[in-house]
Amino acid sequence: MKTEKTIWQKSREELFQELSSTPEGLTGAEAARRLEHYGPNELQEGGRKSVLRIFLEQFADFLVIILILAAVVSAILGDVESMAVILAVITMNAILGTVQTVKATASLDSLKQMSAPTAKVVRDGQVVQLPGREVTVGDVVVLEAGDSICADGRLLECASLKCAESALTGESLPVEKDLADIDGDVPLGDRKNMVFSGCFVTYGRARFLVTSTGMHTEMGRIAALLKSTEEKKTPLQVSLDQFGRKLSIGILVICALLFAVSVFLRGENVMNAFLFAVALAVAAIPEALSSIVTIVLSFGTQKMAREHAIIRKLQAVEGLGSVSVICSDKTGTLTQNKMTVKKLCTGGQIIPADGADFSRPEQRELLRAALLCSDATVNESGEVGDPTETALVRLGESYGFDEAEARGKYPRLAELPFDSDRKLMSTVHQLPDGLTMLTKGAVDVMLGRTRLSPEEKAEIERMNEELSQQGLRVLAFGKRMLTAPAIGLEDENDLQFLGLIAMMDPPREESKAAVGECIAAGIRPIMITGDHKVTASAIAKEIGILTPGTEAVEGAVIESMSDEELREFVPRVSVYARVSPEHKIRIVRAWQERGNLVAMTGDGVNDAPALKQADIGVAMGITGTEVAKDAAGMVLTDDNFATIVQAVKNGRNVYTNIKKAIQFLLSGNTAGILTVLYASLAGLPVPFAAVHLLFINLLTDSLPAIALGLEPHSDAVMQEKPRPRSEGILTKPFLLSVGTEGLVIALATIIAFHIGLASGGAAVASTMAFATLCLSRLFHGVNCKSGHPVLFTRAFWNNKFLLGAFAVGALLLAAVLLIPPLEPLFQVAELSIGLVGCIVGLAFGSMVVIQVLKAIRSMGKK
Ligand code: ATP
Repeated sequence: MKTEKTIWQKSREELFQELSSTPEGLTGAEAARRLEHYGPNELQEGGRKSVLRIFLEQFADFLVIILILAAVVSAILGDVESMAVILAVITMNAILGTVQTVKATASLDSLKQMSAPTAKVVRDGQVVQLPGREVTVGDVVVLEAGDSICADGRLLECASLKCAESALTGESLPVEKDLADIDGDVPLGDRKNMVFSGCFVTYGRARFLVTSTGMHTEMGRIAALLKSTEEKKTPLQVSLDQFGRKLSIGILVICALLFAVSVFLRGENVMNAFLFAVALAVAAIPEALSSIVTIVLSFGTQKMAREHAIIRKLQAVEGLGSVSVICSDKTGTLTQNKMTVKKLCTGGQIIPADGADFSRPEQRELLRAALLCSDATVNESGEVGDPTETALVRLGESYGFDEAEARGKYPRLAELPFDSDRKLMSTVHQLPDGLTMLTKGAVDVMLGRTRLSPEEKAEIERMNEELSQQGLRVLAFGKRMLTAPAIGLEDENDLQFLGLIAMMDPPREESKAAVGECIAAGIRPIMITGDHKVTASAIAKEIGILTPGTEAVEGAVIESMSDEELREFVPRVSVYARVSPEHKIRIVRAWQERGNLVAMTGDGVNDAPALKQADIGVAMGITGTEVAKDAAGMVLTDDNFATIVQAVKNGRNVYTNIKKAIQFLLSGNTAGILTVLYASLAGLPVPFAAVHLLFINLLTDSLPAIALGLEPHSDAVMQEKPRPRSEGILTKPFLLSVGTEGLVIALATIIAFHIGLASGGAAVASTMAFATLCLSRLFHGVNCKSGHPVLFTRAFWNNKFLLGAFAVGALLLAAVLLIPPLEPLFQVAELSIGLVGCIVGLAFGSMVVIQVLKAIRSMGKK
């Protein structure tokens, strides 16, 4: 599109003409046609891999390459059977790997879709909310503070618009925009009459005409230069990778030594010795660790998404497992955000909301102010606007004030919109008494701006306290006569007091239980709110956040504190009221410095830094701005505190399941190595053929490992303290149990090997060792389900994936052992029924022994 270079120089009229659009935007039909022509408004991700590429990448592993080499060498030496088996096994393994990777990627993609930004677009003359990818050239898009900008375009309307463009220009401060035409060629950062895709609105309001979308935007141009959007590895994956690498080097050294001993000391066939060393390396090196983590994490995120928590960064799942402090907003997160007016207060009296007397002028004036000084509307099709204001409108209506009529009769001539720093809102109307400014806001702020005697002030403060103690949100109303309709912030002073209106926002039913669950799980819940301290305390007490021994403070209290003082102070505080976004950052940091992992909720534009500072930033999906969502690691689609607690539970379970899968893989591998080492030290024949180890490690082992990662989640994880943030999976007790369990399975295998040697020679012995190791490892899946014994309990049966994985593995093993044509391929000897019985007995026995060991360990802990 040639127009791009001069968009900022052209007049808006020229652009409308060029793009065949109007200030009323496009029609739906025209937009559909253009979408077809220009393609969807999205960036093509450089890193997207085809299934074939994923499949081929499975062969890029060092060990697999060696196996392929081994297969080639086998073929050259005329051993076509070995070649066929090795190739078949690695191909099957690659297919399994591809299926898992594709599934995990698809599930992460669908998550990305769920949290993809939307845009407010004018179509057929109406503002509609659409997915960003459906925006096209010529569309007119509406912007508000907190929105993300979905396309490049020229501004049509602009009210104090400021945009954060750091993603594009590197400029860290928001850029002020305006409508003025610009002459000449100016750099991107100076094109003040344009907005750009990938940037955010931090302040103000605007409309713009879309001039380019998708890869044609400025962001699209650099997207090609940006690295592929591959997920960063999580800390757990990094630590497992490091562990795997160290272990691999050690194992490769052992394998090289074994190879040397076989060839030079025992004089074995070089090819056989080589194949065996390679197979042992494959058997012992836990190369699947990191990919298991990805698979389990991505399945975990799917479950969380179904339960209203959308994970935007995989690291968040892991982090959720060790969250020890949750800082939550009050309104809408802990409470229902459904306000109902309960009490009014005029003329020094508190009146129940249903007992107002419309004939009294002071009450009528208060009701009219409530209706006129709010933006919300309530009609048959529902409520639109802030719940605080819809409550006021509903109050007016319950007394027969028709909102539309009142607003039609006394139209708004000017306004100062509400903002949560000022905590006030004012509107100007021509009322029967004259030109009047109506102001409403937080009582403490309003009292400072109202003409009252000290006694009157004290009386209002007393009533405010009384109402707040009942958990009610109290707003004060005032008025001021004007001579001209134009008003500025300085006019919100010298007001005449009209009265108070107190409303209830009941706690969500599930909040109390969720808070209880948090506390039982060793997690400290903290309320951080813009509301009044007494109101916040009443609600916090009701749901169990404010407990004896902890206190509620106002955000201002921490302003005078140094970081060290704050660090000492935070454990005492459960409720922070009248908080500003800067306070939030300091509170998070103080908790982090005390060694905690902190989750923090947020919804506004100004919350983004605090959400980024928190270990888990939690944005509100319904009421949150796009800026907050972009900064967060997790988005709640129901804005509910209980969902955070549920996500923590899922995070803990995912972590436990990953641990189970790793334990399964490491202990099974240990058993294989111990058996080989034993045989070589004892001067016995080699216990396994190379193909045996490949069969177990590449085929029968992967499915139970994944199945363990998908174990049903348990509530018991919430009875434990949070895992310390520095604690990895590979702790001493963990490695000890890996070693012990590996030893038990190795013993069963060695016994089977000896029975084989005694009854039929090396071939039978090797078959016995292989089958016992394979079956024991399948049974071992059950052992890894829990730290406690599960035999004879219902938990034994509760994972259908594990049962399925066992069945598949056992069938594959049975096929190899019992179908005669497969015998030479897999180098197994024919076994008598008695010997098969021994294998089953030993494998089952190894499981029973490990179960008994678990029972003893559990008793020891009690
Ligand atoms: P939270 O941080 O828990 O979401 P909040 O919703 O109470 O708290 P704000 O919306 O920032 O926080 O409101 C702060 C204060 O401003 C309220 O306690 C109330 O006194 C006042 N207020 C809220 N909404 C309005 C409004 N529409 N008009 C005037 N004043 C309001």
